[in-house]
Amino acid sequence: MNLRKMQARPLRRRALLLLRAAAVLLILFAAAGCSQKPSDTDLTEWEHVVRTVTPAADLTATPTTEPTADPTGAPTATPTSAPTATPTTEPTATPTPGGTPAGRLVVIDAGHQRKGNNDKEPDGPNSTTLKAKVTSGTTGHFTGLPEYELNLIVAKKLQAILLERGYRVIMVRDTHDVDISNSERAAIANNAGADVFIRIHANANDDSSVNGAETLCQTKDNPYNADLYPQSRKLSQAVLDALCEECGCKKRRVSETDTMSGINWCRVPVTIVEMGFMTNEKEDRLMATDEYQNKLAKGIADGIDRYFSQD
Ligand SMILES: [Zn+2]
Repeated sequence: MNLRKMQARPLRRRALLLLRAAAVLLILFAAAGCSQKPSDTDLTEWEHVVRTVTPAADLTATPTTEPTADPTGAPTATPTSAPTATPTTEPTATPTPGGTPAGRLVVIDAGHQRKGNNDKEPDGPNSTTLKAKVTSGTTGHFTGLPEYELNLIVAKKLQAILLERGYRVIMVRDTHDVDISNSERAAIANNAGADVFIRIHANANDDSSVNGAETLCQTKDNPYNADLYPQSRKLSQAVLDALCEECGCKKRRVSETDTMSGINWCRVPVTIVEMGFMTNEKEDRLMATDEYQNKLAKGIADGIDRYFSQD
């Protein structure tokens, strides 16, 4: 037998063995990659990353958790179309003379909805504390204006101003007939990769003399998103300052709390704007006027400008 042939065979065998080993390794790597599924806790963050790298999916994507159907069966907007499917964004926005950071994404949540949903949800990721999914809010004690209506009026005015200034905007809702829980509202902001999440509300108090605006964010010890405290606090302060300057109302405070589902589920800087008290006659009547609503919207927009200019 030819000596060369005898040596060649083991060589080919070795080469084959090496090829097989490489194939096995490749399969193992692929399997390991696939098995890196996110835990429940960071599902929204995971989805955020996935959606960030595939922006085309954003427009049709549904929120992390599906809003439940309206229990009354009323002809409401379908939840999947309401949340992420209303990007009134203007990606071609150009910088304004004031130096507005063009293209920044603001998600606006007009607080509440026509019909509350008293089903419960955890008030934070993996929390055992359950809270109502969403309520219908308060009502103007003197005007009868429902808070959910006022919130959406101002939210839409804010949307218009922000688009004008070159921001991109996503509205959590643009109708009253939705069923979107507070955690789902946060998920919409998370999944969109919002630069800021602005939640518009109005306040109520047993004491009708109490008036003024305040903003809310998490505490620095929030168990879910303390890492976002510095930005949320800065955002809350900037919005409160600018709103009160524009509206001339009493500046109450930035209130820090870890009891708000819509804050606790956030993975983006967030503030709740309590524009004024619907239990105070002067403020209730003011907030029902187009003129004051314009001021509220402009004040909030100025605060957002201010926040980004501090970056
Ligand atoms: Zn409210």
